Amino acid sequence: MSGPSNLLSRPLSDLPGLTPHALKQLAKESLETVGDILWQMPFRHEDRRQMQGSVFHPSETPACHFVTVGKTRSKFFGARGSGVFEAQVEPRGGGSLGQVLTLRWWNMPFMKRTIAEGLELVIYGKVKEWRGQLFMDHPEYEILEDEAEVSASSYTGRITPVYRLRGGLTMKNLRTAVWQSILVAGEKPFATDLLPPPSPKGEFAGWGRSKALRAVHFPDDDEELRQARRYLALEEFYTYQLRVVRRRRMAEAAGGRPHPGDGTLTAQLAAALPFQLTPAQQRCLEEIWKDMATPMPMNRLLHGDVGSGKTIVAFMAMLRAVESGAQAALMAPTQILAEQHYQNAQRWLEPLGLRIALRTGTRKTDGDESPLWTGNNDGRPPEILIGTHALLHDRKLLTNMGIVVIDEQHKFGVAQRARLIQKGNTPDVLVMTATPIPRTLTLTLYGDLDISTIDERPKERGEIITKVRNIGKRDEAVAFLREQLEADRQAYLVYPLIEDSEKLDAAAATKGFKEWAKALEPFSVGLLHGKMPPEEKDAVMRDFRSNKHQALVSTTVIEVGVDVPNATVMYLHNAERFGLAQLHQLRGRIGRGSHTSYCVLFIKDDDEEARQRFAIMEQTQDGFRIAEEDLLRRGPGDVLGKAQSGAAPLRFAELLADTRLVRIARTLAERTLDEDPDLQAPRFESIRKTVTESEVEQATLQ
Ligand code: ADP
Ligand code: MG
Repeated sequence: MSGPSNLLSRPLSDLPGLTPHALKQLAKESLETVGDILWQMPFRHEDRRQMQGSVFHPSETPACHFVTVGKTRSKFFGARGSGVFEAQVEPRGGGSLGQVLTLRWWNMPFMKRTIAEGLELVIYGKVKEWRGQLFMDHPEYEILEDEAEVSASSYTGRITPVYRLRGGLTMKNLRTAVWQSILVAGEKPFATDLLPPPSPKGEFAGWGRSKALRAVHFPDDDEELRQARRYLALEEFYTYQLRVVRRRRMAEAAGGRPHPGDGTLTAQLAAALPFQLTPAQQRCLEEIWKDMATPMPMNRLLHGDVGSGKTIVAFMAMLRAVESGAQAALMAPTQILAEQHYQNAQRWLEPLGLRIALRTGTRKTDGDESPLWTGNNDGRPPEILIGTHALLHDRKLLTNMGIVVIDEQHKFGVAQRARLIQKGNTPDVLVMTATPIPRTLTLTLYGDLDISTIDERPKERGEIITKVRNIGKRDEAVAFLREQLEADRQAYLVYPLIEDSEKLDAAAATKGFKEWAKALEPFSVGLLHGKMPPEEKDAVMRDFRSNKHQALVSTTVIEVGVDVPNATVMYLHNAERFGLAQLHQLRGRIGRGSHTSYCVLFIKDDDEEARQRFAIMEQTQDGFRIAEEDLLRRGPGDVLGKAQSGAAPLRFAELLADTRLVRIARTLAERTLDEDPDLQAPRFESIRKTVTESEVEQATLQ
């Protein structure tokens, strides 16, 4: 082979050691070239450096042996298919102690077709002793076909990769393909580095893509493996950061308009508010206003736990744009929230003489009846536009747009923000989220944003008392709820997520609604779920907000953003189905007024696991602490979100927790772009095969 790229694109059929059948199985999984194979990351490794010699030792540590198969037999225990297949093996070459080890495969009668007397195997597993006999259950094994295979073996005498298997792939074929690729590559570099050459004194001295790819499969020791993974992760973060930093610079270069404002509208609103901004709100607002006053477009994340009061800060920022002669837009992830923001805007901004428009429907081509906008009937352009994220696709709206506020949308990616960039007139952008994002994730996910954090809740809030209760205790709960409703409070009665199906969720809520409507008579109960038409949802929310309904039975559609301060009770049914982060978001719907609030997590009777998991909910309301607990309990993969559960874990997820790595990536990207501002981030195969940009963006808390 000659050039580096040449090797990666070579077909696997060029490699020795792969049978036509093996090649076919690999091809079925789209593994056709050396490059394809080397980007299959092992999900763990086994230390097989110490081949156990010719003695079997009972031990809790798995060990690796060369053995020869002697007698085999199948035993059946009557019930269909149940039985055990046993193969007696001796150390290869006989061993000196005359020991015999019995390998056992339970309920796998077909093993007798694979393991036969006289075969030579490498086995890996725990040797157990019982009544003077030695056993190994369900060992990992590989059949050695010839002498050459033994000496060039990829799986013995070293740290051996273990891959996730899919389709017809076998561990042996994958390992052989990787091993042969690495042998063919030899010691020379075979892949073009994406990262700039590492400093000779730094921690990555001597590292490059080829070395990392080699070592991530067949490392010499643990330290080399760790560093190989870090190098590849760094490469990935770096390409991501190149894109992030480049877009940020483009936005800055495109330029925007200054929005210094004259303070008239903001002062009026401040005077009209029934409360004072908290010091944290004040500080964040000043950071925002400072950005807005410059011609450089603002790119800021406003970050604050549920109930910390982000909306009013957004309104104040929007007013500053209007004071400066521009329009302002507020986008919400759901119609329900857009409607809520609209009502708040009517309450707070209309008295200042501003025209406010809510984008309700979507335009259909066949002249449909439903109005696209409400609230803007006099034909003059509104100062304030409110709607869902669809607003953004309406380019002509953006001509005089001074600021775009994006609420509660952690999935709102870099690419969407890039849509807003317009030469000389890029609006200021404020993204708001309640997601407790660890610092490294903000650097990664929101790498192009400055961050303001509202780190305190308004005082004079009633406390939230949270209890975990067995569902068997519901009668008491009904009585308590009636007391609360009689005291003029309101309640959310939430039904759980069922298998990701809105339809099933709706069915559970509908059933619950019937029960509660009866149990709470004569109080009025509303029903809200994702399957209802938007107008109906709006109507129900309006009736709940105006206390026409005292209780609202709902699915998780109320999870984000909904703000009804008089609601003080939340009952969560089948709480064990929820993750902590989601429970925290849901609970954030109560405790928004001055009254004491009550959150009850109903779990299956005697579900000790759930009871323990939820203890933290009883102890704290701090979203960060709850997220941390989640992280500890479930590992980053799960906390990072629904996107991954069930699917393959983010291969480098744990590396995301490596702040240093993310920072190095950021610095390198900035330096690279200083030298070559037009550099396009490489769209490299590694990106596709490991973590994609959108995966990174989705990797946020639910
Ligand atoms: P979130 O940060 O979750 O979006 P909201 O903006 O919906 O929170 O605010 C929650 C509630 O707190 C609203 O009813 C709002 O009017 C109220 N609020 C906001 N700021 C203050 C404050 N400084 N003092 C008292 N109440 C406030
Ligand atoms: Mg909100």
